Amino acid sequence: MVKITGFETHDVRFPTSLSGDGTDAMNTDCDYSSAYVALLTDSDLVGYGMTFTIGRGNDIVCAAIKEVANRLVGKDTESLFADMGKAWEYLVADPQLRWIGPEKGVIHIATGAVNNALWDMYARSRQKPLWKLVVDFTPEEIVKSAAWRYISDAITKEEALAMLKEREAGKKEREAKVRELGYPAYVTSAGWLGYSDEKVARLTKEAVAGGFNHFKMKVGANQADDLRRGKLIRSIIDDPQYLPPGAKPRDPNSEELRGKNAGPTGAVLMIDSNQVWDVPQAIEYVKGLEEIKPWFIEEPTAPDDILGHAAIRKALKPYGIGVATGEHAHNRMVFKQLLQAEAIDVVQIDSCRLAGVSEVLSVLLMAAKFGVPVCPHAGGVGLCEYVIHLSLIDYIAVSGTMERNVLEFVDHLHEHFVTPCSINSRGRYNVPLNPSEGYSIEMHKSSIAEYEWPNGTYWQSRRNEKA
Ligand SMILES: [Mg+2]
Repeated sequence: MVKITGFETHDVRFPTSLSGDGTDAMNTDCDYSSAYVALLTDSDLVGYGMTFTIGRGNDIVCAAIKEVANRLVGKDTESLFADMGKAWEYLVADPQLRWIGPEKGVIHIATGAVNNALWDMYARSRQKPLWKLVVDFTPEEIVKSAAWRYISDAITKEEALAMLKEREAGKKEREAKVRELGYPAYVTSAGWLGYSDEKVARLTKEAVAGGFNHFKMKVGANQADDLRRGKLIRSIIDDPQYLPPGAKPRDPNSEELRGKNAGPTGAVLMIDSNQVWDVPQAIEYVKGLEEIKPWFIEEPTAPDDILGHAAIRKALKPYGIGVATGEHAHNRMVFKQLLQAEAIDVVQIDSCRLAGVSEVLSVLLMAAKFGVPVCPHAGGVGLCEYVIHLSLIDYIAVSGTMERNVLEFVDHLHEHFVTPCSINSRGRYNVPLNPSEGYSIEMHKSSIAEYEWPNGTYWQSRRNEKA
């Protein structure tokens, strides 16, 4: 019997605000940060998890992680693994901590870190990467692992089970296919608001040459600037001369590009305003960007405003522009309502704003039932490492399709992870294959020692320089 005996947390902050990486209309000064946890046992087995923040407040999340992780101390790992849905309910059910949520804000993202650490430990204990652990589950086991409270008006366990059983026959074939091809990805790192036109053009050309065909640009600070940068990006992605040697333009009218406003080479542009607008303002502003032909506007308004998103989607439909959101959708009920209200064209789950793998599974199941593609939010630090697992679960076991999906990729900070994610020459994520990498989120001890706030060597030397 292996028991959880304790945990460590680390407040790790990277000084990304110095380079303008991650800048958008709302978040102008980000220090990408990890509220990191290691669950320890009385054996060699360890479970790593984290949630993402953008700097100040990361210590508050670490304090909340301690409260949530403490609930697991003394528990037998195998009895937790035997019913991960029940383990998830137990994590969110502390009768006192519940008051500082429920299921939202700091306490929920802290729960995400802890639930992810438990899933990481489970996968490591079975010597499988996390995605493989889950896709090898029976449909019954997947259903049992999800978070079910409050969503039966959108999907029942019986419906989920029937859907998963239907997809079972093709699992082997899909797994083989994605191992060979990789999972489709898109780049955001070319279009941060803080970058000059020259830098945007250079990074866009590099991304096209790297095999990418979906690109995202940040918008919302100034419409004229957005239009200029959007035209600049389109002039590169729509020009066949920049395609990698031997690559052919894709048919913009093909099934996989249908409705995506693709240009003549099959390239797709998405725009993201990170919640800056009121609803009428969002509609007017985005109409003015029709010329750059975006597939969707991401986070046009407040993330909790379900009916607002629905209104924006309805108003932009005649312009061929869709709506996406989810990186700040704080629990499965928000996604449930976004789907029920037909407010979104794309579900952008976040691996650690939702409270870990169990709650993500519920959203994957709902999205599949409603027929809306899941294109996870990533970037920051650690998010790309996490989400490839979730998209693989979605493709192989849940939705059964990846042709219209794209997974966000941002090329920052991967070097801090023991098993970093990687992209192949087709601009797709490689499938994580190391049997002991779990959920791929273990950080190098040297990175923690350097960037731990406030006393890591990096932060100490910054203080010394200032003094
Ligand atoms: Mg975004």
